[in-house]
Amino acid sequence: MTSPITQNIDILKKSQQLDSEIYSSRLLLEDIPSQRMKLKADLASEKTHLEELDKALKEIQMRLKTKELELGQKEGQIKKLDGQLSQVKTNKEYGALQQEIASLKADNSLLEEEIIHILDEVEAAKEEAQKEKEIFASVSKSFQGKEDELATQEKTLQGRLVELENQRKEAVAQLPPELGDLYSRIALKKQGLALAPVNAEACSACHLQLRPQLINEIRLGDHIVVCENCSRILYFEA
Ligand SMILES: [Zn+2]
Repeated sequence: MTSPITQNIDILKKSQQLDSEIYSSRLLLEDIPSQRMKLKADLASEKTHLEELDKALKEIQMRLKTKELELGQKEGQIKKLDGQLSQVKTNKEYGALQQEIASLKADNSLLEEEIIHILDEVEAAKEEAQKEKEIFASVSKSFQGKEDELATQEKTLQGRLVELENQRKEAVAQLPPELGDLYSRIALKKQGLALAPVNAEACSACHLQLRPQLINEIRLGDHIVVCENCSRILYFEA
């Protein structure tokens, strides 16, 4: 009597080859959502950074505007006081006005210095925002490409999986039902690898040294023998 394994070894090997590819294709497919999420997170982080830089620039520009307004107001006051100089009656009043004007002018020279300083800050912030804008544009552009690539990869894998699963169904259907069921159960648990050839009296999958009695049973082949450690179907390579 021929062993059920030897008799069906080609179909079993074919099934295992299919199951193994099904397993690796599923892994690749399952990984796509997290890759997609990472792409989105990277893009969002660049966007946030750009928004922060834009906000910082606006704040500096606002500070500049306030200082310029203050300077303008004080210049207006100086002009007004200058006009009053010709109308005052006493030296004392004249002196007081002049002192007030001098004090305003001193304030303004400080304000002008501050404004020059803020203008430098505006320039630097603009430059930084511009750089980030370019980075964001390039990340956005590659995001679209990478997302399209993932979508294509996903579609290809899904198509391939349907193909593989059909072929697998056909292959397993050719096995005796009992063997087919056992094979499928083990393949499901063992990442698509349900078979283990005996190699130097050991299971080639988990390297368990096999008992002589087990080896005899595999050789006799009147029933299916599975590894006592990893549960894979044991057979001798022809
Ligand atoms: Zn084993």
